[in-house]
Amino acid sequence: MQLILLGAPGSGKGTLAADLKSIYEIPHISTGDIFRKNISEKTELGVKAENYINNGQLVPDEITIEMVADRLSQVDCEQGFLLDGFPRTIPQADALAAILNDKGIKLTGVINVTISDELVLKRLTSRRVCSQCGASYNLISLPPEVNGICDKCGGQVVQRDDDHEETIKKRLETYHNQTKPLVDYYRNQNLIFDISNEGKPEDAVAAVKGLLG
Ligand code: AMP
Repeated sequence: MQLILLGAPGSGKGTLAADLKSIYEIPHISTGDIFRKNISEKTELGVKAENYINNGQLVPDEITIEMVADRLSQVDCEQGFLLDGFPRTIPQADALAAILNDKGIKLTGVINVTISDELVLKRLTSRRVCSQCGASYNLISLPPEVNGICDKCGGQVVQRDDDHEETIKKRLETYHNQTKPLVDYYRNQNLIFDISNEGKPEDAVAAVKGLLG
């Protein structure tokens, strides 16, 4: 299965992806996670990406496309993949089409995760993540058992640098201007599956399973 998860920041793509990864047994490729790993390891890619990310802007297409092309050429992607956070612009979508065309692969579908901007703001300002293993928490709906400590690995639970209110608003604006046009792009190819994620995460998973089998 070759899937794309499309949706605003804070729409719950990451949580949904973790479930879909194990249900369909395909690698979860989150461009945001790959960038954050590179930033924490201070790689050349991380240094190039950091300022864009902390300002709520997109990392330039040529950097992002090269990174994803490289990831998709790895052997685990031969069984399929779940792209989360890529593509985010029309040139990225065109580049992905060319990469897949070269490999003779077709997309199975594009899951369009929908949620209101108000709910995004509420969810993201209360989101916390483990700085060690990346596990996601929410101060309101899913706090760690011990304040500031990850239940899974004991790492420090922190707020992402780009989860502050002003940056979230900037990220939402970026989403509406640059990423939302992809919904029509893929709808025209009959690939879109619309999934509302304003309710419980398990409802969204069930909805995807209902549509994709
Ligand atoms: P995410 O974790 O998906 O919300 O991504 C965090 C940040 O990484 C985004 O706000 C962008 O700055 C950057 N990023 C992630 N994916 C992409 C992409 N496909 N194109 C450009 N920038 C990206």
